[in-house]
Amino acid sequence: MALIIEKTQINNFLEDLKRKFEVFDIRKDTLPPKQYFFPPKEEIFSYNKKTKRVSVPKPKKKALLFGLNLDDLEAMTQLDEVMRKPKTDNFYFQRKNRTLRIGLTDVSIKSAPPGGDLIFEKINSREYQVLVWTPQGKKIARQYNKFFKKTCIERSRSVKNPKIKNYPDESRPMKKLKELLLDSEFLADAISWSWKNDSKIWDELAEICLGCGICSYVCPLCYCFSTEDRAKIDGKECVRYRQWDACTLPEFSKISGGHNFHKTLKERYYNWFHHKFVRGYKEYGKSLCVACGRCQKYCPAGINIETWIVKIIKDYEKHLLTPRS
Ligand code: SF4
Ligand code: SF4
Repeated sequence: MALIIEKTQINNFLEDLKRKFEVFDIRKDTLPPKQYFFPPKEEIFSYNKKTKRVSVPKPKKKALLFGLNLDDLEAMTQLDEVMRKPKTDNFYFQRKNRTLRIGLTDVSIKSAPPGGDLIFEKINSREYQVLVWTPQGKKIARQYNKFFKKTCIERSRSVKNPKIKNYPDESRPMKKLKELLLDSEFLADAISWSWKNDSKIWDELAEICLGCGICSYVCPLCYCFSTEDRAKIDGKECVRYRQWDACTLPEFSKISGGHNFHKTLKERYYNWFHHKFVRGYKEYGKSLCVACGRCQKYCPAGINIETWIVKIIKDYEKHLLTPRS
């Protein structure tokens, strides 16, 4: 037995959900869904000098993110893990635990679900199959059952329909990188070898890169931040904020006393790669990348990491095949 929602019912379903949730249709967002759990700038607490009290912002209404694609869902599941290990980021989970995630895809999910509470999977031009993955998703499916119909349709139907794509989708961005991510260990070895052997690739990249930080901001798996204390002009209150930071920015690795661990853009750019593909693999067993293509889409210098990673891999493979004397 499968649950189906008609395309024409999706808007009504979302309108009804608005009574309980703050609903965000994320499909046109430039920033990735991490912004809803880990905002670009957020107040952590404030201190009032007169009352000597520390206050933290009150949690908002429950949120619902609608329209997450499979890369978004996979990235958010991975980001949950990052935010849990080695220490739980309570600010992140306070928001995450009050948020429901609904995926939307026109490609068939054949393997393990990439995350989310519910996923609407397109089965034909008029209908979506509703895949329920979590108890929260089950609760919503039950509470809003007037929008769904039950049918004996087989899941394989979508695979048989030539108009419905299978996942991974042939037309998806960074298809090659998606494949390379299947062997994160090899990727980590190749990237770290390339840096240690002073590959010209890093000079070339540093020549092109503008050091603007956009790639980190739009990446669903970049999570570095800096903190800042701001006193109100009357000196009565001080607020601590945290805000997104980016490896490629000049001040990213600067510490008190003025020392900067990564003075050059080349070092900073490599640091971005290192964190994603080398450290990410060492700490979590996989790269901090889902090959969503956002960094390439929004990079003002037109850098496509897939192209550069393929070059690095080719150099590394050549090195592995070269006989040692
Ligand atoms: S978005 Fe492009 S130009 Fe900006 S820091 Fe990233 S790679 Fe460099
Ligand atoms: S493709 Fe770029 S933006 Fe997307 S997950 Fe990988 S590094 Fe981040």
